[in-house]
Amino acid sequence: MAELSPVLKQATPVLAARGEGVYLYDEQDRRYLDFTAGIGVTSTGHCHPRVVEAAQHQVGTLIHGQYTTVMHRPLLRLTERLGEVLPAGLDRLFYVNSGSEAVEASVRLARQATGRQSIVAFQGGFHGRTMGAGSLTSSGVKVRAGIGPMMPGVVFTPFPEAYRHRSSEAEAVRFALAEFDQMLVTVSSPRDTAAIIVEPVLGEGGYIPAPPEFLTGLRERADRHGILLIVDEVQTGVGRTGRFWGHDHAGIRPDILITAKGLASGFPLSAIAAPEELMSKAWPGSQGGTYGGNAVAAAAALATLDVVRDERLVENAAEQGARLQEGLRKVAAEHPVIGDVRGLGLMVGNEFSTSDGAPDTETATRAHQAAAKRGLLLLTCGPYGNVVRMIPPLIVTAEQVDDAVALWAEAV
Ligand code: PLP
Repeated sequence: MAELSPVLKQATPVLAARGEGVYLYDEQDRRYLDFTAGIGVTSTGHCHPRVVEAAQHQVGTLIHGQYTTVMHRPLLRLTERLGEVLPAGLDRLFYVNSGSEAVEASVRLARQATGRQSIVAFQGGFHGRTMGAGSLTSSGVKVRAGIGPMMPGVVFTPFPEAYRHRSSEAEAVRFALAEFDQMLVTVSSPRDTAAIIVEPVLGEGGYIPAPPEFLTGLRERADRHGILLIVDEVQTGVGRTGRFWGHDHAGIRPDILITAKGLASGFPLSAIAAPEELMSKAWPGSQGGTYGGNAVAAAAALATLDVVRDERLVENAAEQGARLQEGLRKVAAEHPVIGDVRGLGLMVGNEFSTSDGAPDTETATRAHQAAAKRGLLLLTCGPYGNVVRMIPPLIVTAEQVDDAVALWAEAV
């Protein structure tokens, strides 16, 4: 009989027994520096005492109420706290459990509010695996192969990828915006286009920050044509990039913002935020889900936001992210197989390329595995899996960054 397994493929052989701060421990009590943070989720580190306390207290008080039936205090308090950090005007929130569900909710809202159908997404973008969110995802074949047909009405257009196109960032932005304009003429007219959905840093697609001029260019076009701008902050939100939201680097205002992952330090919680006038276009019953806005997850999110503020984790992400990139650039300078080091805050990728510039997935995979053997947990991403990414908890210290860089240098 085949061995029972809860996973199709596991990136490392680690069997995690417990977590503390930036470290994971296996059943033999071997320690790992966790630069994956559960794919960008454990923002305050593993089992932060304040998050643990808040969740434990809530478990003994009220686990689940379902906020479309009965409201509860943790969700009201969380909404108030999020109001302090959300862009001005995005004053209505709606909660679900995962990034994909929030993406689905944003698309439903955009279609309801505009009466238009098309959604513009970017080549290399990732928005999840449910049928709607998967339809907006184009980072590689792995999400969609053998699954179609997908949701109709999705149009893909290029994201500025300077390194891959061997161009300057300004040229990459000009090219992507020109393609966008062309798409509005030839593929999806503004009259049919409900929304643009964009990640401030292309995440699963290879850790490519969106140049600010690209995001401002999209904002201008959205305003000109009455198209909604959905900013997917599932991976970039809550301090990850060294600003509270990834789009803060460009100074733009989203029409709909999506947050998940780092919001609740490991508890499943996601939300969309939009102005009241937009959210009121969604009729009751058209949005929702049994577990959305769970009381324990909301209490954990509230504690997470307190820790992010009190421990100055946004500032720490900027500081340690710069230190990490500097260290990784030194490693890359000695190993030409790493063609590019890039990122924003604590979201950093190392792209492996052959001498003629082709993706070098094999060496990236070997380096990733070698790092795990040395006690440094990392992830890969990019359409070819040739980008090794580092996404540690936001509490990471300078010493831990230096330890990770030293282990990475050995692994490479
Ligand atoms: N959007 C972005 C930008 C993501 O990075 C992800 C997951 O990695 C998702 C959406 C989907 O989130 P989830 O896996 O929680 O459904």
